[in-house]
Amino acid sequence: MKKLISVIGPMFNEEGLVSEYCSQTLKVLEKLSDKYDYELILVDDGSSDRTYSNMMDEQRKHPHIGVVKLSRNFGLEGAVHGGIEVAKGDAVIVMDADLQDPPELIYRMIEMWEDGYDVVSGKRIERKSDSLFKKMSAWLFYKVTSAFSNRLVIEENAANYKLLNRRAIDEMKKLPEVNRIFRVLVPYVGLKAGNVEYARDIRTAGQTKYNLKSMIRYALDSLVGTTIEPLRFIMSLGFFTILLGILLTLSMLVMPVASKDTSLILAVLLYIAGAVFICLGLIGEYVGQILIEVKRRPASIIDLYSAPNAEHRE
Ligand code: UDP
Ligand code: MG
Repeated sequence: MKKLISVIGPMFNEEGLVSEYCSQTLKVLEKLSDKYDYELILVDDGSSDRTYSNMMDEQRKHPHIGVVKLSRNFGLEGAVHGGIEVAKGDAVIVMDADLQDPPELIYRMIEMWEDGYDVVSGKRIERKSDSLFKKMSAWLFYKVTSAFSNRLVIEENAANYKLLNRRAIDEMKKLPEVNRIFRVLVPYVGLKAGNVEYARDIRTAGQTKYNLKSMIRYALDSLVGTTIEPLRFIMSLGFFTILLGILLTLSMLVMPVASKDTSLILAVLLYIAGAVFICLGLIGEYVGQILIEVKRRPASIIDLYSAPNAEHRE
């Protein structure tokens, strides 16, 4: 029997992209069909436009397409989770719907998989297509996360575009967390990982689903869900402040503080109060994560799944 390749396409309000995504992806998969069987799993993440009905139209045309309908919008991570739940492939590839990640990269990913890699990640070598703001925020995100997560490397510019073999997918499914950020779970699983480099295209159609607020949310979830280093950092910050206090006290012995400098004292107080609030907020983030995790709710709920027409398979 041929090995099966599953491609998962998470989509939220991408009505204008469904058919283009399917035709480009199927074109690549068909070229591999001598050696491999394949399925294309489209996941509708609670879209409010015609994404779902467009997906069903595509499925009628192509028996290799499967359509997952989530019960509501769960966000990209929930959509990827839904796709992984139903994908049966020996290799599973997650590829954004906007065709910013070229489907042709699949050839190289498959080659590396056959060479023994368990995980193959698309790695952006340039971000010409991204706005300056996106570039800067991505840079900051990788710097902050790598500063705090000492052992676990979230590789810079590693896209969500990845191939995982069955072993890696099964290991990932065993991870019990509800906060399932794909880009963070995959490096946690480890195994033999390699990269395929590519230049990122501009979005073919539609709008990015990420604004500043959701990007900050994403960064915090990744950080807080991955490492407790920031909490340790708070503690060292406390020791540092106390040390500063002691030095100041000692310095007063030799050089009395002039009373006119109340504004300076006020400013210092405000800084410290601000730092305390930030620390409290950070602890709040962790408490929030604990709440989310103890509830054990699934990352997403599948409303309907119409599997690819199995008849074409030997
Ligand atoms: N997406 C999703 N659910 C959401 C938001 C986004 O499934 O709630 C999908 C979206 O349709 C796309 C992918 O996630 O296929 C990446 O989204 P987008 O291109 O907007 O992100 P960007 O590339 O701008 O980071
Ligand atoms: Mg995109």
